[in-house]
Amino acid sequence: MSHWYPSPDQEATAAQAVAAFRAAYGGDPDGVWAAPGRVNLIGEHVDYNGGPCLPMALPQNTVVALRRREDDLVRVTSTVGAAWQGHVADISPGRVSGWAGYAVGVPWALRTGAAGPEGKALGENGFEASVVSQVPVGAGLSSSAALECAVAVAVDDLASAALGRSSLGATDEGRARLAAACVRAENEIAGAPTGGMDQSASLRARAGHALALDCRDFSVQQVPFDAAGARLAVLVIDTRVHHALVDGGYGSRRKACDQACEVLGVRTLGEIGLDALDGALAHLTRPDHRRRVRHVVTEIDRVHAAVEVLARSELAALGPLLDASHASLREDYEVSCAELDLACEAARGSGALGARMTGGGFGGSAIALVDADRAESVADQVSAAFTRRGFGAPAFLLAVASDAARRLA
Ligand code: ADP
Ligand code: MG
Repeated sequence: MSHWYPSPDQEATAAQAVAAFRAAYGGDPDGVWAAPGRVNLIGEHVDYNGGPCLPMALPQNTVVALRRREDDLVRVTSTVGAAWQGHVADISPGRVSGWAGYAVGVPWALRTGAAGPEGKALGENGFEASVVSQVPVGAGLSSSAALECAVAVAVDDLASAALGRSSLGATDEGRARLAAACVRAENEIAGAPTGGMDQSASLRARAGHALALDCRDFSVQQVPFDAAGARLAVLVIDTRVHHALVDGGYGSRRKACDQACEVLGVRTLGEIGLDALDGALAHLTRPDHRRRVRHVVTEIDRVHAAVEVLARSELAALGPLLDASHASLREDYEVSCAELDLACEAARGSGALGARMTGGGFGGSAIALVDADRAESVADQVSAAFTRRGFGAPAFLLAVASDAARRLA
């Protein structure tokens, strides 16, 4: 009775991307690359506050078939957007509108140095690309980063080979640089604010692991996360709503955090430990600043607790941390909405060990930690609760910690 996203089939999606490529450009692509969406287990709205987060790569990927050109023509098509074409020199902030900015912003960011000096030569040539995605678009599962990262590894592999050197993406350090280029593409060409968690997860996560990402310096630690081994599953509930009216919410939260930093004399809120929280709150006169700071500081503490729980393989102990994270995002950070609250409540009411909204909020997705053999029944009960409340049907998928961006063919 519930709507489930289809299980991803990489071979079929790759074949679809190649077919789309042949139809659009004639001939074969040089190769096919995939980059995953992500879900964040815990650590929400802390990346831009210098805190840690704990995302993992989804089995759902965005797949790109790409052919490098000797000249500077760039052409991209997608199953979910109009074709775009231009020249390398046409790509700059404010000059590419729509979805294509996420794709063609990447070579621009490389060319202009976002991945360091070695990256510059990677973005100089044109290319043709066709995009097919398994990641639901706009669901808070980071289809935008998946698109950027698929293009990044494709362009990097082909340009590096043409230059006779090894790919930047061959090492984690190089992948961190590609991630920086993808962040800059999203910020400056697509014009969307993003803190770096999504691109790091898509490029640097490892199957069977969650990625403990320290957003101060983007250092990472691979934390084993075998939900199935513990007979658990991470159920993703896509509410399929996005409250456009509050689109400015992300920017206004960032601004409030910056203002609070100024009052408190710290560079980032991540510098404030839990033991210094009460003192910091006493210094803040604005109640909304106090709430924002309390969320950030307690959420960072919950991430550390979650990493410890995973290190001890006590996955069930994640549940209360998820619940506390949701309460904090709802009450203190005020980025939840009725659909996300209901998704979490209904999941808990039908036996989930814990649940929380994930991603930026105001719609998008929630996650619930459930007994593996109860995932379907929890999904059905969440769907029923949505129907009773008069909300549209949510959609579900299981988040299995999967591989980062890679070449498929
Ligand atoms: P999310 O990253 O959570 O899915 P965003 O709003 O950050 O949501 O990004 C969604 C946007 O990314 C889309 O509106 C579109 O512009 C672009 N996008 C993502 N995937 C694709 C795709 N496969 N084809 C075309 N555009 C895409
Ligand atoms: Mg996104």
